Amino acid sequence: MLEHCAHARFVWNLAVEQHAHWRRWRTAAPSFAEQCRQLTEARRENVWLGAGNADVQQQALGDFARAKSARFTSGFGEPTWRKKYRHEGFRVIGTDRVPEYEVDGRPKLNAKTGRQVMGRSVVVQKLNKRWAQVKVPGCGWVRFRRTRAELPDAKTFRVTFRNNQWHIAFAVIPEPIEAPGAGEVIGIDRGVRITAALSDGRKLNCPQLTVKERAKIRKHQRRAARAPKASETKTAEYAKVARLKAREANRRKDWCEKISTTLARTYDLVRFEKLNIKNMTRTAKGTQGEPGKNVAQKAGLNRAILAQGWGLLRQRTEHKAPGRVEDVPAAYTSLRCSACGWIDKNSRKSQAEFVCSFCGFTCNADTNASINVAAGQGGIPRPRRSAGAGGVTTATGRSNAREPQPAWVGILLF
Ligand SMILES: [Zn+2]
Repeated sequence: MLEHCAHARFVWNLAVEQHAHWRRWRTAAPSFAEQCRQLTEARRENVWLGAGNADVQQQALGDFARAKSARFTSGFGEPTWRKKYRHEGFRVIGTDRVPEYEVDGRPKLNAKTGRQVMGRSVVVQKLNKRWAQVKVPGCGWVRFRRTRAELPDAKTFRVTFRNNQWHIAFAVIPEPIEAPGAGEVIGIDRGVRITAALSDGRKLNCPQLTVKERAKIRKHQRRAARAPKASETKTAEYAKVARLKAREANRRKDWCEKISTTLARTYDLVRFEKLNIKNMTRTAKGTQGEPGKNVAQKAGLNRAILAQGWGLLRQRTEHKAPGRVEDVPAAYTSLRCSACGWIDKNSRKSQAEFVCSFCGFTCNADTNASINVAAGQGGIPRPRRSAGAGGVTTATGRSNAREPQPAWVGILLF
């Protein structure tokens, strides 16, 4: 399988090089079909490549073509080089020939010949409750640990090798989770202390490494730093660090999957406060002429933000409940009283405590914010037209049209 990885990487990097050459010299970029022809030639000339599996190599080209055409929408941009040890993986197309059907159940027919189209299907066998096996070309049956009750019905699968672990992922488009239909809305406020505060008062925390595990990481980092350069000890110690860090990432991912499924199942509409995580985690270092302030604190906050898996939770909820996820502008959600709508920074007594300076409503600060998010409230109080030039808002005698408020409520600026 490592050989498959090497072949796939080699072919992918060839394609990257070709396209880079095309961009540099404005020559015609080879199409996928043309690349496949070139691959056949290359396999004939290169013994090492020719000894590998042709399907695996062709799928790597297919992956590249897909990555290339999705470069503006995928979020990954232009496909780039794959590195040894870093990006190890390959895609396999199923070997079973199965008839294909349209969405409505009619057999899919070839427009030219009129015969039913035959597709490919992955051969998977169940071994027991926990294990199943799949056929990998050139390797025979490969056992894998099952994470789902049902066996996958996929056309292709991808095998990756990361942190000394093999993973297999079947390409299956899951059914979206249906809305319960009771019209229930939930608001979610994401924070550093509490990962996700829900508007029903629940507080969910993303699991992180335990104190013991963190101490272990530091121990191995220390040992690695003291080991002589390029020694076996150094590599082994760094591998231990990587494994522990991977454990944290796995836990976070698992948590996001579970929570997003629960959210999609129990609520019709899920509202998140709109965060710009990229801006929030931007480095505080500044430039040489203008060094930033509180660099270490900001770096710590950045780590905390990224470790919380905020982005992933929203993304996965959106995947599972398409069209049922909304973003609410985050500004003022933490300062607005969810009972009366009064916005005042003095209401926020501490990190955890919220006491409305107008009506005295007392609540956990994160829960209060999430109730505002659920109501779709918050946002910047818009200056009234009568407030004068510069958009300065002063206390006005009338209630704000955006939210129900007592007769003389104003908006305090800060
Ligand atoms: Zn209030």
